[in-house]
Amino acid sequence: MSIFDLSGRTALVTGASRGIGRACAVLLARQGARVVLAARNEGLLDEAANEIAASAGEAHVLALDLADHEKIPVAVRQLPKDFAAVDILVNNAGITADNLLARMTLDQWQRVQDVNLTGVFVLTKALVRGMMRRRYGRIVSVSSVAGVVGNAGQANYAASKAGLIGFSKSLARELLSRGITVNVVAPGFIETDMTAAMPEGAGDRFLEQHGLVRLGTVEDIAPAVLYLASEEASYVTGEVLSVSGGMT
Ligand code: NAP
Repeated sequence: MSIFDLSGRTALVTGASRGIGRACAVLLARQGARVVLAARNEGLLDEAANEIAASAGEAHVLALDLADHEKIPVAVRQLPKDFAAVDILVNNAGITADNLLARMTLDQWQRVQDVNLTGVFVLTKALVRGMMRRRYGRIVSVSSVAGVVGNAGQANYAASKAGLIGFSKSLARELLSRGITVNVVAPGFIETDMTAAMPEGAGDRFLEQHGLVRLGTVEDIAPAVLYLASEEASYVTGEVLSVSGGMT
């Protein structure tokens, strides 16, 4: 058996339609996991599933809106038999709605919590029962360095990402004796659609401000998620792994 072999495991990755989530899903599949690809955009999920199938991996597309909390447990119950016993949950999907606090609307605040935090709570709760029954599980959530050190203009986002850390550390303690680990990856500035939507020059300013050598890529994050999702990380739980090029 090779290191980080996920053969026989089933993973569910949220936000698998693009960016960090898609890179995680492709890597987990390459390591042998059967992967449920969850997000809203079915067309992009199909593309990701085709990429996985092209290298003999197994993927199932699950159209899921994490802001639609009532539908999440229903969707989980309807997963096909081969993909229903989820061993690895990657809570990756997330959104921003940036503004300075003085201008931030309640809607901007609420939308971000609904997806980044409440969506994670509802989905994790729906899947953790099966993990407890099978006495095995890996829960890896993608937070952000903004949730660790804060970021001006992102009070809503940073609060949701800090909340994700508190949620994960608490859950790690609850599940210590169940063979389920719960960890967090906190990326720095990663080149994806999310950061492309930032004002021009944001990346360069970020590099300068933090004295970094380069911006991150999705390929920098996926291996960190793979490690925490693997058998080899069975003695690691309640941790936050920062992948930020030295920023923190
Ligand atoms: P991205 O390219 O914008 O992708 C976001 C993903 O989340 C997409 O797959 C999107 O799919 C999904 N998503 C958004 N809203 C959703 C909803 N309501 N229900 C289900 N899925 C939803 O972002 P990314 O940069 O890859 O970010 C991935 C994660 O890393 C996020 O949690 C983000 O906060 C975190 N992060 C990113 C950076 C960075 O610099 N990029 C840094 C730190 C942390 P659909 O649109 O198809 O639903």
